[in-house]
Amino acid sequence: MSVPVCDKLRALAAYDPDINTCGIHLDANESFLELPDGLKRRIADRIASLSYNRYPDPLASGVCSAFAKRVGVSASLVTAGNGSDELISILFNCFLSRGDCALITRPDFTMYSIYCSLSEAQPAVLGKRGDLTFDPDEMINLAKESGAKLVIFSNPCNPTGLGISAEEVLRICRGVDALVIVDEAYMDFWDQSVLKYVSELDNLIVLKTCSKIGFAAARLGFAVANPSLTGYLRAAKSPYNVNSLTQIAGEELLSDPDYLDGAVKQITASRDALYSALSALEKKYQKIEVFATHTNFVAVRSKYAAKLHKSLRDGGVSVRLLGGELLRITAGSAEENVQVLSLLERSLAEIV
Ligand SMILES: *Cc1c(COP(=O)(O)O)cnc(C)c1O
Repeated sequence: MSVPVCDKLRALAAYDPDINTCGIHLDANESFLELPDGLKRRIADRIASLSYNRYPDPLASGVCSAFAKRVGVSASLVTAGNGSDELISILFNCFLSRGDCALITRPDFTMYSIYCSLSEAQPAVLGKRGDLTFDPDEMINLAKESGAKLVIFSNPCNPTGLGISAEEVLRICRGVDALVIVDEAYMDFWDQSVLKYVSELDNLIVLKTCSKIGFAAARLGFAVANPSLTGYLRAAKSPYNVNSLTQIAGEELLSDPDYLDGAVKQITASRDALYSALSALEKKYQKIEVFATHTNFVAVRSKYAAKLHKSLRDGGVSVRLLGGELLRITAGSAEENVQVLSLLERSLAEIV
């Protein structure tokens, strides 16, 4: 028997996480730091006394409070998700009806267009300019022309590493008649968050994740919005979306500002070192274009991107290749950065 498969599913090109068999993983924007032993032990101790026979707290109160305290908002504005990815899926599927228009930019996080097509919404795409930036006023105009009901973008952006200022984000929120979702997955590495404005704006949802600061395995993300939007989101999500182990572990992680602040500092320092070294290669060989970054990775554009990607892979280092011309290289440990840079230099020197 063949199962009838609807068009939207058949049209879907599955997310390609670029599962890597290389030794060094600089392709998924993870943190290169392991959680410290003390923190791991505190998590393990609390998990040891967990009642496995009970469902998790549907509002994930403990971990939402710890997150709210860390970022300085009220816990009543916070909804936890099984990664921010789950929250993106809920937002597309529950805040849009079939045929509604959603504004996305390109390039941006690939999951937006996948969830857009699964929700049977119509995408209006704002293409980034040659320098990979976009004009906030052009976004406002396109949102108006297309009648978009939802606008979503990452700030700073994955995969470009670039961002727009908090002031520009607020201008977009005030200039459109749409729900504006600002995905701040990388805002730990920059200072232009609009988190503190969620209460004054009726159309802003800010997404956050713990995945880039050492917690990708646990799957934990947050949406922050005014009470009305938070009410809809909580009603729409599945009741037990964040499991008890993740809630407990996340509460411990987010209650450890010393670790988190130190990790952000180390990751930012690695990112800066990687950026400087790549910029030196740009100058020396003139075959790559290195973009400024506010994230934990560096974007590099080159017509040799596919070749560079392959020679890195052959050398045991995986980075992300996007759209044929863009390499996204996650900041790694000092040794990992040395490895990727020396392979890259060797490969650049070979291109004539
Ligand atoms: C990594 C990433 C996410 C996904 O975060 P999870 O919490 O791991 O689901 C969301 N948005 C952007 C832009 C990302 O790069």
